[in-house]
Amino acid sequence: MATFNKPCIHCGAMIDGDSRVCPKCGVRGPLGILCPNCLNTIKRGDVACSSCGRALMTGCPFCKAQTFVGVWKCEACGKPLTIKCPDKRCGQPQFFESTKCTVCGKPIKDGKKQISKVK
Ligand SMILES: [Zn+2]
Ligand SMILES: [Zn+2]
Ligand SMILES: [Zn+2]
Repeated sequence: MATFNKPCIHCGAMIDGDSRVCPKCGVRGPLGILCPNCLNTIKRGDVACSSCGRALMTGCPFCKAQTFVGVWKCEACGKPLTIKCPDKRCGQPQFFESTKCTVCGKPIKDGKKQISKVK
């Protein structure tokens, strides 16, 4: 059976239904709502990740609204809440509050400072 295209939850591009990485924006787990910390599947409406315990709502650094972390962008103002992994060879998009890259494991410092510079 053919796989159907589905929208990436991060950038909205229609991508293959079994993609593990979005070919458009490069985010892992483009079709599921995943904890930005540990990539556990999370549900909208939950208050904390069942695996690592991080809070699933956070204040947007741009508009200060509370937003759900599973979509990696602010639901109020629509700005992406991602930064790039500081490792040059990795450079994968990561959630701005993450302290460790979920791809290469490098520590991420100053994610909150980095995102405040994004225009
Ligand atoms: Zn988690
Ligand atoms: Zn916002
Ligand atoms: Zn990385």
